[in-house]
Amino acid sequence: MSVGRYVRFEAQGAAAFGRLEGERVESLSAAPWAGGRPTGTAYRQGEVRLLAPCQPTKIVCVGRNYREHAAELGNEPPREPLLFLKPPSAVIGPDAPILYPPASRRVDYEGELALVMGKRCARLKPDDNPLNYLFGFTCLNDVTARDLQKADGQFTRSKGFDTFCPLGPVIATGLDAAGLVVETYVNGERRQRGATPEMIFPLDAIIRFISSVMTLEPGDVISTGTPAGVGPLQIGDVVEVVIEGIGRLRNPVAAAT
Ligand code: ZN
Repeated sequence: MSVGRYVRFEAQGAAAFGRLEGERVESLSAAPWAGGRPTGTAYRQGEVRLLAPCQPTKIVCVGRNYREHAAELGNEPPREPLLFLKPPSAVIGPDAPILYPPASRRVDYEGELALVMGKRCARLKPDDNPLNYLFGFTCLNDVTARDLQKADGQFTRSKGFDTFCPLGPVIATGLDAAGLVVETYVNGERRQRGATPEMIFPLDAIIRFISSVMTLEPGDVISTGTPAGVGPLQIGDVVEVVIEGIGRLRNPVAAAT
């Protein structure tokens, strides 16, 4: 897959997929993984509002995929990828507020590298390369109500609140997955840094494992786990997940009304 930067955006009251060319957003007729072609309409980036870059049927997350992060929460590194789901209803785009739920007193950021699938993928054969089913990469913030995660003993409520899945700002294709670095900043201060070689399960193994459980659809998202350094957010904070070659996923934290 050649180098490209893809977005979803809203302009003149309608949402569309687009391709970024410098400061220009070229509108596409459909999702780029579904054969979307330029429609001939283009905008300056400042004229459009970026949305989450895809609309996944599911977001499959890998827990404890960095040793240091597993240790900081007192967990052993897993023997197989530890999977959980975030609901599509939690997805928000760049600059949209993360709403702090009244039920929690401890809401954490988790900056993560996310994979966006380009083809339907199920029960891969041993000689099938999982990376051939990948479309590209984006940033994801696996926002987590840590107190509720501990209280519940599972993840559905604590990671499933509306707005708890910021995604974007773009899907980048053609990146070298071997050296991607994910960083998280709160109010401009760096809190997390991790690189793909530090992952316990590499990207191809993660896709292969998930495909042995559930069918991945084009546009579905896999989040690959968070490095060490997770910590709390407060109402009024601004959190950014940054990956070179993808960009900055910036979201303010606001009170739920
Ligand atoms: Zn996570």
